[in-house]
Amino acid sequence: MKNDSCKYFKKCGACQLRNMTYEEQLSYKMSKVIKTLGRFCHVDEIEAMTAPSSYRNKAQAVYFNQGGKVFPGIYQSSSGKVVKCNSCPVLGNKINFIICEIANIMNELKLKAFDPSTGKGFLRHALIRQGFSSGEIMVVLVSSSQIFPKQELFVSLLTERYPQITTVIHNINDTKTPLWLTSDEKILYGPGYITDTLCGCTFKISPRSFYQINPIQTEKLYKKACELACLTGNENVLDAYSGIGTIGIIASKYSKTVHCVETNKSSVSDAIQNAKYNKAYNVKFFTCDTVKFINSAVERGDKYDVVFMDPPRSGCDKVFLSRIMTLSPPKIVYISCNPETMARDIAYLGGGGYKVRSLTPFDMFPHTNHVETVCLLTRKAR
Ligand code: SAH
Repeated sequence: MKNDSCKYFKKCGACQLRNMTYEEQLSYKMSKVIKTLGRFCHVDEIEAMTAPSSYRNKAQAVYFNQGGKVFPGIYQSSSGKVVKCNSCPVLGNKINFIICEIANIMNELKLKAFDPSTGKGFLRHALIRQGFSSGEIMVVLVSSSQIFPKQELFVSLLTERYPQITTVIHNINDTKTPLWLTSDEKILYGPGYITDTLCGCTFKISPRSFYQINPIQTEKLYKKACELACLTGNENVLDAYSGIGTIGIIASKYSKTVHCVETNKSSVSDAIQNAKYNKAYNVKFFTCDTVKFINSAVERGDKYDVVFMDPPRSGCDKVFLSRIMTLSPPKIVYISCNPETMARDIAYLGGGGYKVRSLTPFDMFPHTNHVETVCLLTRKAR
């Protein structure tokens, strides 16, 4: 399978492995995981994608002015410079079309993209998200000020041309940080969120909530995580770093109780509604840092049978892990997007009596050098 099908790959730099065939990419990722994590346990074959293109459900396009016209682009990974780009093969087709349509409408309405060097112009970037199974599309238009010229006409042109767009949001980012959504937002069209279905559960996703970007692989990953946990309906479960509650809510069908812990308020607010949608009445949510949560759990003397942990790239806080060892759950299912921090954390858990029983890499991000891994840890026999 040839993967040299992206004309922007050298300039863009986000897909570092584009010059390899998909098979080469998979063996590269396997070796990376074996090298980093192979000392803990046998590494299962990587869970690959059958069709490794158009997998991303989320895009962030930057807009810029050139020769009196507005164009869509992306930030070059190496320099942060904007590179012209009107089609990205890891995105769904509709998302690519909408990115270009936003530039077309800007040009038709004679609007200008925001120019950071002069501070003039309107649109900074757009975030587009699509529900894989629902087909619903969210467009978030990010500008540097409250002023959105010709707003009504803009939104009606966009939604008439792409009726799959079910919600449009205006976000105001007057900070220096690009590609950032602030809490200052206005819903211009639709409900302000989209929904999607994973493993038979429906989830509400708001603009600032975390949601995995590859739904096909995410479904496989969550299934594997639940399989490893061997839930029977009697377990008390902790879902740490829970986002919009996906793992916890899916697992709640086969557990007695689930506690979900997450710091991002927008994600927790979605998670609470998601539990209601899915009639997951045995799930409780805590808007809290995992360390703060686990300290109180230890004080209360809480007991968990299974702990799912799915931290960001930086991995888990050491204090969190040491308190987990105090609580001593029989099973820990650790999901990680960074083999290095996973290796550090499972080595630490190893010192506290846990042994890795299985390790499976997942290709969540084909063509990039990123790899996700799920592992099961149980207590060593005393
Ligand atoms: N399990 C979820 C989210 C994983 S991403 C899913 O599969 O969709 C990691 C999540 O951890 C993010 O939502 C982030 O906001 C949250 N997070 C990061 N640091 C945290 C901390 N110290 N305490 C609690 N949550 C944290």
